[in-house]
This record gives sequence, structure tokens and C-alpha cells, in this order.
Amino acid sequence: MDAALRFSSLGEFIENHPRLFVLTGAGCSTDSGIPDYRDAEGEWKRAQPVMFQPFMADVHTRQRYWARSLIGWRYFGRAKPNPAHFALAELERQGRVELLVTQNVDCLHEAAGSTNVVDLHGRLDTVRCMSCEQRVPRREFQERLLAQNPQWAQLDAREAPDGDADLEGRDFTAFNIPPCQYCGGILKPDVVFFGESVPRDRVDRAMQGLRDADAMLVVGSSLMVYSGYRFAQAAAEAGKPVAAVNLGRTRADHLLTLKVNQPCAEALAPLAGVDLRLGLAVSI
Ligand SMILES: [Zn+2]
Repeated sequence: MDAALRFSSLGEFIENHPRLFVLTGAGCSTDSGIPDYRDAEGEWKRAQPVMFQPFMADVHTRQRYWARSLIGWRYFGRAKPNPAHFALAELERQGRVELLVTQNVDCLHEAAGSTNVVDLHGRLDTVRCMSCEQRVPRREFQERLLAQNPQWAQLDAREAPDGDADLEGRDFTAFNIPPCQYCGGILKPDVVFFGESVPRDRVDRAMQGLRDADAMLVVGSSLMVYSGYRFAQAAAEAGKPVAAVNLGRTRADHLLTLKVNQPCAEALAPLAGVDLRLGLAVSI
């Protein structure tokens, strides 16, 4: 480990920096049963997720996406926050979190009680029309998908990240995708796909949170994607210490003041007085 490490423990780091900018990633949600994309080396564990351009340009890509999503949503829509989410919500309640920015699209921070959250990559619980911008809840769209594709509802497949499922070997051309009810446009999950940029106002709000904070805490992210890595870069440039809780290496390892190589819940729950077993905040 780096000889420049100044903090012996995460508790000390949090104690010494009362206004934290928190950035979370997939590792925060794995204990909620949502698989992640990358291994401990930050490499892809599986086929890369769908890209923005093919999704918009090619109906077959959209058919395959929504057929898999129809199955994947059954797991994803039921996921519950775990002690890592509850611990971060508790730290916010204690006034220690300036802003929480998440790369996850599962809304589990909000479900755990965090209120000051930027969903950097959007939310999978919402579907957006790419023509008229109307938004509809994903659970409503699920009903429409099921109504138009009853034969697909019986299928099962292993769940995959981001509400996806490993459904292959099917003729996806038979899959019916309901269009926007208002204008007939193409509907897309309200999340930032690979190949698509994060909306500017979201990045600005997150950067402002980083400026107002006195340190950055990365939770469960390898920071392999630039949209997250840039905050670690900006923190380091501003001379703000960066700590990370992550199993395996991160792209920002050379920028870290403290690295905790532990599962997120295990590392955070005791510091926030959250019961690891129950996932419930207990009084401290
Ligand atoms: Zn529309």
C-alpha cells in the first residue's frame, strides 16, 4: 500500500471529513442481489451492455433489449436496499453527506432513505419517450409489455445487471414493443446507455456537491467509466482526499488516500450503527 496513506481506518476518515461527497457504484447493490458487470480487476465479466446508437437505430436491438428486460425486471423491480444503502442514509441523517452521487440505476439509495441523491446514470424505474419526452413508470410499461407478449411472460432466464436477463436463442423478431402512447415514438429506459452522455445539469450538480465537500468517498465502484472517474480526478486536483471501499482495484487507486478492500455493507454498516444482519438502523 501507498506509504502516503494518512488514515488508518474508514471511521477516522469519516470523522475527519464531516462533509462527504459520496460516489456509489454497482458494488453497493450486489448485496441486494443485483449482479455487477466487472470483476476484481475491473474487467468485463460478461458481454457488454446495449449501446445507445444501435438501440435507437435498430428495431431488432430494441426487441432483444425489451424481451430480456421483461424477464430481468421481475428480479430488479423487487430488489430491496441492503445495509450499505441504509448506512449511507444514516450518515446523511447525521449530516455527514454533502451529496450522494450514484452510478446505479436501481433507486435503492432513495428506497433506503437518502434524500440528497443525484442519479448520475438515470433511473430504471422510469421509461422515457425519445420524441416527446413523456415519462411513464417502468412498472406500467411492464404491464403493456406483458399484455402484448403473453407467450414471453412464461420464460425464465438468469438475471443480469441493470434489469437485464440472459435470455438467448430466441427469435426476438416476434417480440412486440409498445410505442409511446402519446406520440408513437421510441421508448427507452430513462437511463444513460453506453455511448450516450450524462446530461450536463446532472454533472454540474454533482460537481457543485464535490466543491462543497471536504472529501470524497467512493463506495463499490471500480471507476472504470469516465463519468464516475472524473469526480475522483476533480477531487484530487482540488486537493481533497479520496477514500474508496471496493473489492478489487479501481481506476483511481493512484489517487486514493485510503483504500478499504471489503464488501460495502461490511465496511460501512458498523460505522453508521446499522445492523448488518437486519439492514435496519439501530440507535447509537
Ligand atoms: Zn412520445
